[in-house]
Amino acid sequence: MSDREEIERTWAELVTTARRTAAEGLVVGTSGNVSARAGDFVLITPSGVPYDRLGPRDTVAVDLAGRQAIGELRPTSELPLHLALYRKTDARAVVHTHAVHATAVSTLVSELPPVHYMAAALGGPVRVAPYALYGTEELAENMLRALDNRTGCLLQNHGTVTYGDTLDQAYDRTAQLEWMSRLWLTASAVPGHTPSLLTSGQLEAAAEQLRGYGQSR
Ligand code: 13P
Ligand code: ZN
Repeated sequence: MSDREEIERTWAELVTTARRTAAEGLVVGTSGNVSARAGDFVLITPSGVPYDRLGPRDTVAVDLAGRQAIGELRPTSELPLHLALYRKTDARAVVHTHAVHATAVSTLVSELPPVHYMAAALGGPVRVAPYALYGTEELAENMLRALDNRTGCLLQNHGTVTYGDTLDQAYDRTAQLEWMSRLWLTASAVPGHTPSLLTSGQLEAAAEQLRGYGQSR
């Protein structure tokens, strides 16, 4: 595949993923942003543009230093957060949303209590990065600390960040994180009861089992 074909194909997948975040209720309006690696570039959603308006001619790409390489539209205001992940982790795709249950959890605790074994799919109990203004290096730094040995975290009073090897994997991790947040809020809202939590041993066993989950090819 030529570089141009890889960029075109990745951009089409990125737009599909960004539209899913809105269609499946993980963001409202132009909230959130999505990025993916293509060769030496990072393809990334433009700031403040509704995802249903994005077409092939709206492609935005930057290099790892943040210099714009393709496109006229300004990249997302969360560019520092996306670049920090590509520089410091093996991320190939990143999804940021304002999913409502996950964001609610981010205002209540410093870590999402492990109520379900799917926490293991994100590397363990999901931490909350302390609040910092959107779009800042400070937010990116707080996020990196919360992501130590994890592929997802919450941003306090803001939203979610997940990454993965593909856009589908990063998206799926966001959907699982939102679902687990909803699960904990639901269970902890029952008067007179406190949800039972999984131990680190139980989560490790689930992580091991998940390595063989699904189809082998
Ligand atoms: P952008 O429209 O600049 O991507 O900003 C949305 C957002 O979620 C900022 O945190
Ligand atoms: Zn945001």
